[in-house]
Amino acid sequence: MAELRRIKCKKCGKIQYPGRIRCIKCKSSEFEDLYPEPLDSGTIITFTKLYAPPETLKEEPPYIFGIVEFNNGVRALGRISEKEKVKVGMKVKPTYGQVSVDPEGKPNFGIIFKPVD
Ligand SMILES: [Zn+2]
Repeated sequence: MAELRRIKCKKCGKIQYPGRIRCIKCKSSEFEDLYPEPLDSGTIITFTKLYAPPETLKEEPPYIFGIVEFNNGVRALGRISEKEKVKVGMKVKPTYGQVSVDPEGKPNFGIIFKPVD
């Protein structure tokens, strides 16, 4: 999943997204790429519930958005499919799907985290 690519500074170790020419912490220009494994699960570290979403989000609110951390330190923002039992510390895995529709009716895609059974 290229959407989850992060870069890690080889000099200071700062993980950052999106990709940059220079490290935001130490200005080094040498990075290594980081990816979670495709079926890797991660842990929800924070989330928010959106009860008044923009009109482009067509499903019933609330919309849950959260930040998930993977074992290698990669963090990713995405929608969380679980609405009722969502909590910090929950294990989820990333999937890629339609998250909204733009004003012209075109679908927008992004990361959707689903609970790991
Ligand atoms: Zn750095």
